[in-house]
Amino acid sequence: MNKIFPYSLSPQNEDERYMLEALKEAWKAFLKDEVPVGAVLVHAGRIIARGHNQVEMLKDATAHAEMLCLTAGSAESSEGWRLNEMTLYCTIEPCTMCAGAMFLSRLGRLVWGAKDLRHGANGSWIDLFDKKHPMHTVKITNGVYAEIAAEVMKTFFVQKRIEKGTTRDESGYQGIN
Ligand SMILES: [Zn+2]
Repeated sequence: MNKIFPYSLSPQNEDERYMLEALKEAWKAFLKDEVPVGAVLVHAGRIIARGHNQVEMLKDATAHAEMLCLTAGSAESSEGWRLNEMTLYCTIEPCTMCAGAMFLSRLGRLVWGAKDLRHGANGSWIDLFDKKHPMHTVKITNGVYAEIAAEVMKTFFVQKRIEKGTTRDESGYQGIN
């Protein structure tokens, strides 16, 4: 397996620039045989936390890229644990757990890439952001480098399928368009 991030991308704006960094995190997970999801947390134009899925390594179903970033970011925040001024970039639509953590940590903005039809909590499976939260609103942008994020996931699961000789359908990750 090629260890170098295999996609040649030329970011055209800030969101793409940071999403590329999240994709590189996803690739680290891929190389460690983890489901390849990555995230970075940005404050005032600076990446203050990076994370990739570590569920297998830590034997912890909650060790999602987003959770690791939010936890690290809370420790860095000048406002205690609040992340109002921060933007989290994640390669895949967050799950219910991560979406919940975003509300609790008062995340300012979320940018995600590809849809997760099985676990996505921003409309694909359920939409936790649909109803106005009484205390906090997260600004959301989606679909940034969605095709690449989805392709990384699909490639991973196709590889797993070949390794295991199974025929399970893993097409649940989709680009936005
Ligand atoms: Zn999650």
